[in-house]
Amino acid sequence: MALIECPDCGRKVSDRAKNCPDCACPVSDVIVELREAEARAVIVATREATDRLVDCGRCHGRGWFQLPDGLVAWCIVCEHTGRTPLCKASNGFYSVAPYAVERFLAGELHAETSGVVYSLGASEPKEFAFEEAADRVSIDPGDPAIPWVMSVEEKKRL
Ligand SMILES: [Zn+2]
Ligand SMILES: [Zn+2]
Repeated sequence: MALIECPDCGRKVSDRAKNCPDCACPVSDVIVELREAEARAVIVATREATDRLVDCGRCHGRGWFQLPDGLVAWCIVCEHTGRTPLCKASNGFYSVAPYAVERFLAGELHAETSGVVYSLGASEPKEFAFEEAADRVSIDPGDPAIPWVMSVEEKKRL
């Protein structure tokens, strides 16, 4: 057993205590959160841009995707080209919208929630799905249509 400092009142508490006996702060939950945040920060610190492009994680290299009603929408993550910059970190490879790379490297964006960053798994992707990339149509990062934060339900619809 180790003694840790209660994040709320500063009292020394057992690291196995669920709550601080003094202020009832949920010490064990807070510790788990802190450890997870630390682990995330370590991974984020390893993020880097490569000099490669990769198939867009949103449209899978097509530059567009089909909506459930049969309509087709241009992909604004890869700016219609089907390709995005490839980034990597200690936990794998990422397709990142060109306009989002700096924010991704700074740790502001995550694959789970941003809507413009896609995890590609642990191994480096090799081939493009299609030989030709489409022409880039630059998108304003301030465009309200950019899905900076996408819910799981929204992602399922893509
Ligand atoms: Zn306390
Ligand atoms: Zn795309």
